[in-house]
Amino acid sequence: MTDCTAESEGMHYEGNCIRPPSEAFSILLQVTVGCSHNKCTFCGTYKDERFSIKDDAIILSDILFASRYMKRQDRVFLMDGDSLIIPQKRLVWILDRIKEHLPWVRRVGGYANAKSIKMKSPEELRVLREKGLGILYLGVESGDDETLKKIRKGTSAENLIRMGHKVREAGIKLSVTVLLGIAGRERSLEHARATGRLLSEMDPNYVGALSVMVIPGTPLYEDFEKGGFTLLSQREFLLELREMLANTHLTRGLFFSNHASNYLPVKARLPKGKEEALKLIDGALSGKVDLRPEWMRGL
Ligand code: SF4
Repeated sequence: MTDCTAESEGMHYEGNCIRPPSEAFSILLQVTVGCSHNKCTFCGTYKDERFSIKDDAIILSDILFASRYMKRQDRVFLMDGDSLIIPQKRLVWILDRIKEHLPWVRRVGGYANAKSIKMKSPEELRVLREKGLGILYLGVESGDDETLKKIRKGTSAENLIRMGHKVREAGIKLSVTVLLGIAGRERSLEHARATGRLLSEMDPNYVGALSVMVIPGTPLYEDFEKGGFTLLSQREFLLELREMLANTHLTRGLFFSNHASNYLPVKARLPKGKEEALKLIDGALSGKVDLRPEWMRGL
C-alpha cells in the first residue's frame, strides 16, 4: 500500500492508493477515491474515505502530466477501489483521453467488484475492451457463501462466477484474489475447497492467493481481539493453500501466492505446474523448504 496523502508534483493523488503487485510499473492514474462498497470486514484501506469519482479536469491534467513524463510506461492502472463503477460515458471518455495522449500505452487495468461488473452490459464491457481496457482485478476472497456473508463481501459465490464469466466473454483478462485464512480456523477446510471449486468454474487468467492480516481499526480486528476470529498458524496457512490449489482446475491460468503477505512464494501455470507447486508446499510442510519470516511479511 502506498500512502500518497501528500500531493506529488503533477499527479493529483489523494488518500491511500493501492494497486496490484503486477501493476508496479504502470502509470497509476487515480480516477476514483475510495471504494464504492467499503464494507469488507478485513479491509482498512479506504475506511475513512468517502467514495467519489474525480473531476474530469483533474483526470485530464494527470493524463497530460503522464504524457510528458511517463513515456516509458506502457500500462495504465486506474485507481482506486473499483474504477469500473464509473458510468460508461465517463469511463469511455477516460479511455479515449488515454488513447489520445498516451498512444504508447498497450493495456489499461482497474479493480472491479461484482456490483460494478453487473452494472455494465456485455456490450458495454466489449466497448471498454475495444477502447483499451485489457484487464480487471476482482477480489473474490472466498468461494464459501458463509464466509462471504461473514466478511460482508456483498455477493455470493454463484454471482462471482457469473460476473467472472461476463468479464472474460467480453475479451477482458480476469485476475482474481483469494484470501488465505479469511474463514478462520473453524471453516478453513470448507473455505479452501469451496474457493478451489469457484476458481475452477470461473477459470480466470490469474489467481493471486494472499494471506489475511488483521488490520487495526477493521471489524475483523475487533472480532479477533474478542476471540471471535482465529488466525491460522503458518502450518495451517500452508495446509489451506495446499487444499485450495489441489481443488483448483484451471484451463491455462497462472496461480500464484507470492504476495508480500504470504509465508511461501508459489507460482504455478496450471494445469501443468500444479504437481510441482503441491510438492513445494509439501516440502515446506515437512520443514525442507524455508518460509518467509514473520517480520518480512507485509501488505
Ligand atoms: S471491495 Fe475491495 S477495496 Fe472495497 S472494502 Fe472490499 S476489499 Fe476493500
